[in-house]
Amino acid sequence: PLVPAGSILAGAAKRYGDRIAFAHHDRSLTYAQTYRAACRFANALRAQGIGPGATVAIHLPNCLAYPVAYYGILLAGATFTPANPLLPPADLAHQLADSGAVAAVTLGKVAPVLSAIRGQTAVELVVVVAPDDLTDGQAEFQTFHADQPDNRPELDIDPRTHLAHLSYTGGTTGRSKGVRLPHRNVVVNTLQYACWGTGSLPALDEDGDLTLDQVGSEEEWTVRLGTGRGINLTPWFHAMGTIGGLNAPVMAGGSTTLHDRFDPIAYLADAERLRVTSIGGAPALFAALLASPDLATRDLSSVRGLSSGAAPLPHEMLKALAARFPDAVISEGYGLTEVTMGATSNPSFRSGLRKQGSVGVPVFDTEIKIVPLEGGDEPVPDGEQGEVCIRGPQVMEGYHHRPDETAAVLVDGWLHTGDIGVLDKDGYLSIVDRKKDMLLYKGYNVYPRELEELLIAHPGVAAAAVVGRKQVEVGELPVAFVVRAGESVTEEEILSAVNDNVLPYKRIRELRFVEEIPVSAAGKILKRELRQRL
Ligand code: ATP
Repeated sequence: PLVPAGSILAGAAKRYGDRIAFAHHDRSLTYAQTYRAACRFANALRAQGIGPGATVAIHLPNCLAYPVAYYGILLAGATFTPANPLLPPADLAHQLADSGAVAAVTLGKVAPVLSAIRGQTAVELVVVVAPDDLTDGQAEFQTFHADQPDNRPELDIDPRTHLAHLSYTGGTTGRSKGVRLPHRNVVVNTLQYACWGTGSLPALDEDGDLTLDQVGSEEEWTVRLGTGRGINLTPWFHAMGTIGGLNAPVMAGGSTTLHDRFDPIAYLADAERLRVTSIGGAPALFAALLASPDLATRDLSSVRGLSSGAAPLPHEMLKALAARFPDAVISEGYGLTEVTMGATSNPSFRSGLRKQGSVGVPVFDTEIKIVPLEGGDEPVPDGEQGEVCIRGPQVMEGYHHRPDETAAVLVDGWLHTGDIGVLDKDGYLSIVDRKKDMLLYKGYNVYPRELEELLIAHPGVAAAAVVGRKQVEVGELPVAFVVRAGESVTEEEILSAVNDNVLPYKRIRELRFVEEIPVSAAGKILKRELRQRL
């Protein structure tokens, strides 16, 4: 499917024209309206000389302006770089300067942060959604594009090499790096997830037309994709949001309702009112829903699919979700920014078989191998642990301006992910932990994830994370941070529930009760922050 990524919306506008694509508070946009507005936005950028070769940042929370600006940038042939609107000034400056963005779309409320660091970047034009006031070099979002023509601008690019996204890694483990993703990657990864259950990748042409007989019924799409009707909470500035929460639902004609912030009570009330068909997000979302008493009382019989990704979904949570939604397909995906969004899916897109504890099999056209942790490119035997490597059309071109770091992770087209995993004899992948999170105790490997699974399985534990405390003679000692579910449970009870069930060298040596576990906007535990506390 070698077409520009803007064709995803162009095709959806033809197929689903009058259907609501996005709703937010009391406003909504149909597919046709979104496409026309995006074309106007693209023409407005072009009128400013912004097209192929230029990079434009979106520094917005999820809102109706987001898809207009996002597809506008792609349709203009410019490169999209997403920025978390809550980034501290120094990180925002780093990201914008590194990306070379010449324009940015921001929100009135967070525009001052951008203004303060603009001098350190190449940003010349700032388009502001809901501005409080405007200063030099700023334009109001509607005024900027409303009077432009709504034809799709001419675009002659090679989708294999022309950059669509310059996405920054989550920064869970260190300074975030720019990941170069051509149009082909965005289109392919969207199709790989949108076409689950169909047995092949459908063709997509420049106008966005899909070969629908290959795609299967809309019912199939809806169940798998988190389309149909859904409430979106996954930030669009993150890989899982841009592909899984924006492009994939658009490709399949989903109607997405936006919530400004996550409130489990409001979420569940709206899910019942809207008769949502799917619930998707990071495990942190499911943990909060499971902790809410309203989950049991709301009528959620419309839900047919639950999809989780971005971080490990603990077994206990999976079991609880399966009990609450016995008729829904529960799927889990695994990926990273470096593969656009994802590389695997459980259940398998071929057989529909789900394996407990696994992140599934590679999606279309994707290969996975496990290599020794100590280095080397030869795969280890099935069932043995090692570093997960991925090859496929969604793998990044490389890191922006970082040839050495690119060469370290991309070898013969194989991306070395830094995740530790194991493949079973049927090709199902399980993620053990991240290489960077693994602890070494007296020369033994300790995987925090194993300990976290045991902690979460305890009824007195609402959330938990394990990190290492450095100690000279032994290496690193596992320390647990625990959020209690109720006051009565004691440290000794929790510790013995874990430590009696693991080998002695893995035992948790210290437990700290905390009010909450810090998570990133994408729902990942911020272990860096926990290590700092030690
Ligand atoms: P940085 O790389 O800058 O530290 P980050 O790792 O948060 O940031 P992302 O690309 O958002 O950047 O996250 C990818 C990582 O998330 C994967 O490498 C993997 O460790 C983890 N991950 C994603 N999905 C799953 C899953 N289903 N199960 C377990 N881990 C997952």
